[in-house]
Amino acid sequence: MKLSKAHLKTLREVPNEAEIPSHILLLRAGMIRKTVAGIYTYMPMGWRTVRKIENIVREEMDNKGCQEIRTSVLQPSELWQESGRWNAYGPEMWRIKDRNGRDFCLGPTAEEIFTDIIKNDVNSYRQLPLNIYQISNKFRDEARPRFGMMRSRDFIMKDAYSFDKDSEGMDVSYDEMYEAYTNVFTRCGLKFRSVEADTGAIGGSNSHEFTALCEYGESEIAYCDSCDLAATVEKATCVDAVPEKDMEMLPLEKVSTPNMKSIEEVSKFLGIEESKTIKALLFVVYDEEGKEKEYVAAFLRGDRELNMTKLINALDIPEHAIAFADEEKVGQVTGAVTGFTGPMGLHDCKLIVDSELVGLRNLCAGGGEKDYHIKNVNYGRDYEGDMICDLKTLKAGDPCPICGAPVKHARGVEVGQVFKLGLKYSEPMKAVYKDENQQDKPMWMGCYGIGVSRTFQAIIDMADNHDDNGIIWPMSVAPYHVIITQVKVGDEVQDRVSKEIYESLTKAGVEVLWDDRDERVGVKFKDADLIGIPLRITVGKGAQSGLVEYKLRRDLDKVELLVADAINQAIEIVNKEKDGRNFF
Ligand code: ATP
Ligand code: MG
Repeated sequence: MKLSKAHLKTLREVPNEAEIPSHILLLRAGMIRKTVAGIYTYMPMGWRTVRKIENIVREEMDNKGCQEIRTSVLQPSELWQESGRWNAYGPEMWRIKDRNGRDFCLGPTAEEIFTDIIKNDVNSYRQLPLNIYQISNKFRDEARPRFGMMRSRDFIMKDAYSFDKDSEGMDVSYDEMYEAYTNVFTRCGLKFRSVEADTGAIGGSNSHEFTALCEYGESEIAYCDSCDLAATVEKATCVDAVPEKDMEMLPLEKVSTPNMKSIEEVSKFLGIEESKTIKALLFVVYDEEGKEKEYVAAFLRGDRELNMTKLINALDIPEHAIAFADEEKVGQVTGAVTGFTGPMGLHDCKLIVDSELVGLRNLCAGGGEKDYHIKNVNYGRDYEGDMICDLKTLKAGDPCPICGAPVKHARGVEVGQVFKLGLKYSEPMKAVYKDENQQDKPMWMGCYGIGVSRTFQAIIDMADNHDDNGIIWPMSVAPYHVIITQVKVGDEVQDRVSKEIYESLTKAGVEVLWDDRDERVGVKFKDADLIGIPLRITVGKGAQSGLVEYKLRRDLDKVELLVADAINQAIEIVNKEKDGRNFF
């Protein structure tokens, strides 16, 4: 492609709204354009990279015997009613009506459609296992779309669904997909980690997320250097503090704590550790129609942080069905007093108690009365929970739930997730097959998602894949492999040499961008660096003596080479790196 004929508009200024390197650079390099918040257009260079990522995904899926199909983005509500998710999905789902008032959604994912297709097509055990996938736009009306393609409202996802005869078959399909994902992300040049994950709105039993490691990521993972622990912070279990069973329970003591509302204030004022206090958090739970259903009070040790995912799972409700309660407003009903709520004296409210509180002795809790706390509160003697479970967030430095060593945290971007769904969809949607004895059996399912557009951006956020001057694409996903920067367009020798290089490389299957624009060479270098083409061949004065400058975007060094040598070296490196298998 000659740049003089291409549509490329790079920006010199950093757009205001962009905060992280990938978002800034994609906008500056003219690879994406914003339409409105969370909705973007892929421009020619960006789209070439997205297609390369899609092709890597396709190759790895096809290698595992999966087959690609393509459903409509429009999905009828009836299918979602069948699975029970039409109400459970919440405000992220983009709901629309047709002219006759029939409800549809713009697919945020596609378990229902795939289950429906396969249940109608498959009736015998002989037709299983099957794994079907698609790469298409998905729509989620995210509460806070941000970071460009990282969290957008219209994004490209690869979603695959496996159907097996039994749970062992499902485990095999899951392992195959896990391997395919490892290959995909490796070939895309990501530094990533797979971690145990919560199953969220998709449901099912086991799940792993693939997290590209970078400091700008929205995901937080916990891992341990001494053992195999690697999990999202939402999922990671915590170790309870050692129970203080032998400690004597002291008599309750009401203490005045004027205006001391936070754990920090109270513990300082009373001269006790935060770990000797009880923290109370009050919530409202809503029913399917959005009406208040019940109040929930969660209690945990004062120095702990509540893990919302664990609370939601304990209550078995969708994420959007719970919100912090206005304690003042609900105080009359429940006995809560802003800043002074404790487990004693609460009523008309479900008490969920973190498991470690059961074993701890003589803690200080809110007194249920303005400006008072109560000391020496003990579980069992003074209060009881309707539910006891692990509600804590595993923090860096906490003991590892497997081996006890201090846990570490890292940030990253969730680029993919795999789930063992079990019978979560096949049972309600009656996806059955006939086994060897002509008995109806439900299919065992798995589902597997890759955020293609998010991966596109996450690649850039890897520390190795950008610098102050722009993007540094890995060869496997670069929009073009080589850029020929011609210093003086119209110079007879430079025209001829550039053309020769362009044609030889193109003939060898190398994708070449030829900067033949009538621009200053400084501008050309800046653009080449910004859009991140992995190899630059500069044709300048040296062309007179048959020499060109050869420079890898990743390196600072440049060398002068004879034209033929530059061509050969370019072909060699492109062939070695273009499918990304060099990363294995
Ligand atoms: P998140 O927790 O980031 O909201 P999710 O767990 O809800 O994502 P999945 O249902 O697992 O997402 O979707 C599969 C993949 O699609 C994710 O791993 C992610 O890479 C991508 N994805 C999900 N939501 C978005 C979005 N709003 N924008 C871009 N990519 C997304
Ligand atoms: Mg996910």
